[in-house]
Amino acid sequence: MSVLATLAAALAGGQVRVIDLTHTLDPDFPVIILPPEFGQCARFRMEEVSHYDHRGPAWKWHNISMSEHTGTHFDAPVHWISGRDVPQGAVDEIPPDRFIGPVCVIDCSDEAARDDDFLLTPAHVEAWEARHGRIPPRAWVLMRTDWSKRRGAAYLNMGKDGPHSPGPSAEAIRLLVDDRDILGFGTETVGTDAGQGAHLSPPYPAHYILHGAGRYGLQCLANLDRLPPTGAVLVAAPLKIKGGTGSPLRVLALVEDA
Ligand code: MN
Repeated sequence: MSVLATLAAALAGGQVRVIDLTHTLDPDFPVIILPPEFGQCARFRMEEVSHYDHRGPAWKWHNISMSEHTGTHFDAPVHWISGRDVPQGAVDEIPPDRFIGPVCVIDCSDEAARDDDFLLTPAHVEAWEARHGRIPPRAWVLMRTDWSKRRGAAYLNMGKDGPHSPGPSAEAIRLLVDDRDILGFGTETVGTDAGQGAHLSPPYPAHYILHGAGRYGLQCLANLDRLPPTGAVLVAAPLKIKGGTGSPLRVLALVEDA
């Protein structure tokens, strides 16, 4: 059988399962909050156009609006100033083969449970590789923190000095981009950077380094605890927004039964 016929048979037979890594788009789902002098990201909004009524007797539909960076979403290189001149850096320009790739899941859930400001370091990445093998080129690396299980104010976890949530150190992102040639980096938190990432060097290192190198981000992911450390395949195709800096999307993982 061809590779694709084998895959189709495995999907039909349940040997390959599809795991949804996406939160539901919901007006109550938190969005990132920037200091008040900056423009703000809009929450998801939905208005009814008709509901099998005088506005449309046989149909129901909605108009929706949101930021490119609302809910589970994709960050493109042009989102950040470091990636402003990256070729094919907007969501409508990215070659579609970049939307599918192998996944490495680094489990930081214990560390994040102990420390809201936990930073993933090169030592954590190398310890993970000692157990699971070297991160292959063009892989998605996802940082599992179980942050997606938080609800309400605990998700953004705002303090007087800004948000507190885990993320990668600049050194870890440099290792992943420069030495491991990753496709992108994903988190369960509202951004690819730690809540206190403004105080790192460079500020917001995941955004700065990933996008400057033409790599991608995923954030507000869910169900990372249902993925194996290696072996899954991620499907993450953003909407084709002209010049778009990111997009809400459905993120799926194909997982082979052990
Ligand atoms: Mn974003």
